[in-house]
Amino acid sequence: MSAKRHKLTVAVSKGRIFDECLPLLSKLKAAPVAHPDDSRRLVLATEDADLRLLIVRAADVPTYVQYGAADLGVAGKDVLLEHGGEGLYEPLDLRIARCTMALAVLGGTGLPEGRLRVATKYVRCTRRYFAARGRQVETIKLYGSMELAPSVGLADAIVDLVDTGDTLRANGLEIVESMYDISSRLVVNKAAMKMKHERVNDVLRRCTHALQVEARE
Ligand code: AMP
Repeated sequence: MSAKRHKLTVAVSKGRIFDECLPLLSKLKAAPVAHPDDSRRLVLATEDADLRLLIVRAADVPTYVQYGAADLGVAGKDVLLEHGGEGLYEPLDLRIARCTMALAVLGGTGLPEGRLRVATKYVRCTRRYFAARGRQVETIKLYGSMELAPSVGLADAIVDLVDTGDTLRANGLEIVESMYDISSRLVVNKAAMKMKHERVNDVLRRCTHALQVEARE
């Protein structure tokens, strides 16, 4: 290792994942010194002098970790399925930001026969899901408001994350298949797992312990 000891760097996104990570970070004695909603800084120091946070877009977390710009990251399983997980280990399910990735259609219509047109942000995992089932799909990449697509004739179905189901219901949609259970995962850069073995393992051990305590409470 070089003479200068680099801090362990953890990539995390703002919003639900960050907020649901805060109790865990506090238990690790690594609470951030500022909340990203109150700060424009994208690198946040924590109570732990050896650990810092990078604030990045949720879909970018695996990329930062894959290329080693961050040693660790917190990413939704949806994002990991779409990224493919190259260069990453996924050792821990943090059991936060839980929801379902689901296939939904306009209420009462069911899935049409034949080639299906699916609008989604999750093009890669939608293709993989249907390929594994021998069903032909055409995917249409959208960046948001997927729920609109069936009612305006852009697609037969959508693949999106569903939590309470309120967004689907408000747009006249219903789930026809629950595809994947989603939650946030701790991911680790494969090289960091070897080169910073002790420190990464220490974080993993402390996270595992905190999750076990929480499960018992
Ligand atoms: P709901 O109306 O409660 O079913 O929530 C659905 C909306 O919230 C959709 O727009 C989803 O993309 C988003 N959503 C739900 N759960 C999550 C999650 N765990 N992570 C990111 N977005 C989510």
